[in-house]
Amino acid sequence: MGEFRLDGNAAAGPLREVFSFEVTTAQYSCVGCGRTDRLGAAMVYEVRQLGTIVRCPSCDNPLIRLAHNREGYLVDLRGTRYLTTG
Ligand SMILES: [Zn+2]
Repeated sequence: MGEFRLDGNAAAGPLREVFSFEVTTAQYSCVGCGRTDRLGAAMVYEVRQLGTIVRCPSCDNPLIRLAHNREGYLVDLRGTRYLTTG
């Protein structure tokens, strides 16, 4: 299999495509319990001053944490094994 090491900028195109996908139909896999489901079916909590947390409906594991301040957004995906676009 051919694998080439490129500058990080080479990932800009594919990443732009990935991060503009339809989020509600995307599938997640939970690090906590292995559940896979549509992101639109997960539970979302707005935390005042902090941002948004998307939790797994099975085990309450935080799948995605979204924080924002004046500089921009911080996306923490540690609770998600992977995301697939629908
Ligand atoms: Zn879970």
